[in-house]
Amino acid sequence: MNFTGKTAIVTGGSRGIGRAVCLELAKGGANVVLCYAGNDAAAQKTAEAAEAAGGKALALRCDVTNGAQVQSLIDTALERFGRIDILVNNAGITRDNLLMRMPEADFEAVIDANLKGAFLCMKAVCRPMMKQRYGRIVNLSSVVGLRGNAGQVNYAASKAGVIGMTKSLAKELASRGVTVNAVAPGFIETDMTAAMTEGAKTAAKGSIPMGRLGAPEDVAGAVAFLASEEAAYITGQVLAVDGGMAM
Ligand code: NDP
Repeated sequence: MNFTGKTAIVTGGSRGIGRAVCLELAKGGANVVLCYAGNDAAAQKTAEAAEAAGGKALALRCDVTNGAQVQSLIDTALERFGRIDILVNNAGITRDNLLMRMPEADFEAVIDANLKGAFLCMKAVCRPMMKQRYGRIVNLSSVVGLRGNAGQVNYAASKAGVIGMTKSLAKELASRGVTVNAVAPGFIETDMTAAMTEGAKTAAKGSIPMGRLGAPEDVAGAVAFLASEEAAYITGQVLAVDGGMAM
C-alpha cells in the first residue's frame, strides 16, 4: 500500500501491535508520529526501524489520557509534517480482575486509557481532517468488546465503547471524506498477552478456528488497509482479526 506524502499518528507505537502498524505504514512511505507512555528505549527503536523501512518517524512521549498532552502531540505533528491523514488509536492497557474484586481505580484507569484516550485523540485530529476533507481513523477494539470475557469487565466496557464511538463518529464525518473504522483483534502475541499461562494459551488456541495466536503483523495489515486510500468507501465497520474466533 502506498502512503507516500501521508502523515500518520499511531498511539502506543513503541511496542506490540502499535510498533507493527508503524512499520507497515512506514514501509508504504508514510511519515509516522508515534506516541508512547514511558518506554523511551522501545519508542526510539521503533522510530529507527520505521525510518529504515522507508518513512520519516518521530517518537513523542504523550499520555493519551491527558488532553493537553494529546493537543501538543497533534500540534507538533502538524508543525513537523503540515497535515495529519491517519490516526491509529492503539494505546491500551489491561487491569484484569473479577468484578467483585476489581478496585474502582482499575476500572477508571482502563476506561481512561482505552476509551477516553481514543476520544481525546479523535477530537484533536477531526478539525484538521475535516478541513483537508481527507482522513482515516482506525481504532483498536478487541474480540473482548464483542463477546465479553470473565475477569475483564473494565477492558470489555472500554473496547465495546470504542465500537460505539467509532460508529457514531463515522456518521458525523462521512460527508467530509473522513472514515472511522475499528479493528477487533483476538489473541495476539505481545507484552499484553505475555503474562498468560501456557494452559491459558492452549485453551485460547482451542477456541481459535485457525489454531494459533495472532502476530502483531496480522493486525497491522488490516489496520494499514483501513488507513489506505483504497478503503475510501468503508466506514463505521468493525473488522475482526482473530483467526475466526469471534464468528
Ligand atoms: P502492549 O502492551 O504491547 O503495548 C501497549 C502500548 O500502549 C505501548 O506502546 C504503551 O507505551 C502504550 N500506552 C499504554 N498506555 C498509554 C497511555 N496512557 N498513553 C500513551 N501510550 C500508552 O499492547 P498490545 O500491542 O498488545 O495492544 C495494542 C492495542 O491492541 C491495545 O489497545 C489493546 O487493547 C489492543 N488489543 C490487543 C490484543 C492482544 O491480544 N495483544 C487483543 C485485542 C486488542 P509504553 O511502551 O511507553 O508503555
